Amino acid sequence: MSLMPSWVESANTVDTHFPLNNLPYGIFSINDNEPRCGVRIGNMVLDLSQLEMRGYIEFNGTLKSNCWNSFIELGKSKWDELRKILTQFLSKGSYYQDNISVMMYKASEVKMHLPIKVAEYTDFYSGRNHAENVGTMFRGPENALPPNWLHMPIGYNGRASSVVVSGTKIRRPYGQLKGPDFDTPKFLPSRRFDFELEMGAILGMNSSQPMSVDEADEMIFGYVILNDWSARDIQAWEYVPLGPFQAKATATSISPWIVTKHALEPFRCSTPKREYELLPYLRDTKPMLYNIELNVLLKTQKSEEEIVAVTNFNQLYYSAAQQIAHHSSSGCPMNVCDLIGSGTISGPNKNQRGSMLELSWGGKEPILLSNGEQRTFLEDQDKIILQGRCTTSTYSIGFGDCVGEVIPAKNEFAKEK
Ligand code: CA
Repeated sequence: MSLMPSWVESANTVDTHFPLNNLPYGIFSINDNEPRCGVRIGNMVLDLSQLEMRGYIEFNGTLKSNCWNSFIELGKSKWDELRKILTQFLSKGSYYQDNISVMMYKASEVKMHLPIKVAEYTDFYSGRNHAENVGTMFRGPENALPPNWLHMPIGYNGRASSVVVSGTKIRRPYGQLKGPDFDTPKFLPSRRFDFELEMGAILGMNSSQPMSVDEADEMIFGYVILNDWSARDIQAWEYVPLGPFQAKATATSISPWIVTKHALEPFRCSTPKREYELLPYLRDTKPMLYNIELNVLLKTQKSEEEIVAVTNFNQLYYSAAQQIAHHSSSGCPMNVCDLIGSGTISGPNKNQRGSMLELSWGGKEPILLSNGEQRTFLEDQDKIILQGRCTTSTYSIGFGDCVGEVIPAKNEFAKEK
């Protein structure tokens, strides 16, 4: 594949995240008007609600909506139809250039909103390096991976209400923390507040039946970058016996543009070699991961943005399709606009780790920033910027940034009587 040229010149550079090959979908507003559907092209956003209102396209009025749910629900043939029309409208030399260009806004001037109303949110734990690092810290290297880990994707049901769009400030949570002994817990602001670098898959179909891995892959609409904000000290005290709860409930940030599965097709790659053959319902049938380079940047109050980790989506042990096949295997219904978190994506090396917990090895090895500051976990006013893109020699498919700034804790009920 090579760059598809557009009459929007900013979409034709090798380093833009948003060439004509991408066409990601988001919800935007301008001048406090109603949020509506848009598509990103170079540094511009095309207003799809206007395009539909003026009769250039017809998708049952779904593009006037303030979320993508009702369009996605129309099904795969409509997804393909919209993509085909937009490619035609935005291609270099298009007959429609003059008519379409008046329905565009500069991306720097619009406000982005959550692209979907999240139906339900499940977070997995499918990064092997991450699971081994965390397991080693908690249980020692011999017992790093629990015995089930190499046989199925481990996950937990999160809260859809916690999902926020990139740019939303993240308030440090209060929570119950273990005291000096088991009998004296305290209610305090988390001191070990962390990020987790993940990708999120967005489901495009409903199903109340167990699904094969291939069927699960078919039902994915697209992907976003996801930050699963995590309070490690709350997690350490609460996680036995039912797993994470309040430690993961504060917020989950996602990037504002849904990159469709269609745009990612040229970047498919295989899951790693299996240690044990998977049970038939989980077996890979084709390359199910994507080669997506991922960066974590940290900005403190005193420092500029600085890369603290570089990794790749291809480091996962289980694909989103395998996670969904496993999730549905019990008969658990899957819905349009369910969000499926991949699990933290860490590479094998120290500078490839996707959380502060791993980067600072449980707080024992602070990371050193170039201005001399040190970090173990996140401090107030720290900003985490997650980035992802797929590259070829002529174009990139990018996700835009997933940003969140930590703001100080606040809780009326924290005072000791
Ligand atoms: Ca997670």
